[in-house]
Amino acid sequence: MKQIFSSILAVIVLFMSTLAQKTYPGSELKQLQSPQNPRIGFVIHGGAGVISRGSLTPEKEAEYRKKLEEAVMAGYRALQEGKTALEAVELAIRILEDSPLFNAGKGAVFNAEGKNELDASIMDGKTLKAGAVAAVQRIKNPISLARLVMEKSPHVLLVGEGAERFAVKQGMELVDPQYFWTKERWEQYLKMKKEREEKTVNMLGMPEVQQKYGTVGAVALDKYGNLAAGTSTGGMNYKMVGRVGDTPIIGAGTYANNETCAVSATGWGEYFIRLNVARDVSALMEYRALPIQQATDLVIQQKLKKLGGDGGVIAIDKFGNIGISFNTEGMYRAYINSEGKPVVMIYKDE
Ligand code: ASP
Repeated sequence: MKQIFSSILAVIVLFMSTLAQKTYPGSELKQLQSPQNPRIGFVIHGGAGVISRGSLTPEKEAEYRKKLEEAVMAGYRALQEGKTALEAVELAIRILEDSPLFNAGKGAVFNAEGKNELDASIMDGKTLKAGAVAAVQRIKNPISLARLVMEKSPHVLLVGEGAERFAVKQGMELVDPQYFWTKERWEQYLKMKKEREEKTVNMLGMPEVQQKYGTVGAVALDKYGNLAAGTSTGGMNYKMVGRVGDTPIIGAGTYANNETCAVSATGWGEYFIRLNVARDVSALMEYRALPIQQATDLVIQQKLKKLGGDGGVIAIDKFGNIGISFNTEGMYRAYINSEGKPVVMIYKDE
């Protein structure tokens, strides 16, 4: 009897471990599971979406890779110098916000009225403190304002004009909204506007013609054992005025907890809010003790897909193990491997 029981148990354990090892396209099991010594770790993303091979010119692709490498190395060096996870996250995101390549800061997309409304958030895994801003129009680096909200206000989320007034009080300079204008984003906006006016696009079908997302985010583990996560975006092209996505919603687009992991998301925001994606990855580690890659895969490849949403996440746990998962064709991403070298990837496998 005892023997039968233990063989059944063995079969179950074997089955569970095969399940756990299942790799999905866009999931990066195996090569990422080796923490560095000392255990610091840094991962960034520059958005997920329809980024298929051939859709980028070789020059554009090189530009993306260069900027991702610059940002991931800047964050990593900061951590090596003893800066905190929060500082590294803010620093790398500012670099990506200042680049017109990404849909955050300078490269933000336009809303339905041709304006830019930016969202960002940051979270400290040590204290579970968080700060976020939404629908700001004159903040050059929304991630830095999110950090000020966390550190210098009694609140978690400030929106629009109130957030900008708070920025001024904190000594931040406002920029002219024109700062965010780029030719590429304006053309994307005009294209969408035309399609909407000619009603060739279903009003609720926005993301099918989104092409790519482009939000930026970072997660870090510093040498003090603290985790942090941050995310910044212009939202979605031709979004309704006042629409707020998952990026500034703690638990949806950003989450960090020293007990589990730090997570930053990108994708079709409404789904990420409904599924509480970032917090769900952390909860799976907390309640089901899933390793980080399995936790990210379960949320992105199963739950998100099932609901019809798309996008991806980057995550890092308290040991420096990394989890990356996306269910789109590509995701701009970069991390520091176990030898301390940057690895930059765009497509599923490279
Ligand atoms: N998640 C962002 C939003 O819905 C968009 C993105 O990730 O690119 O606002």
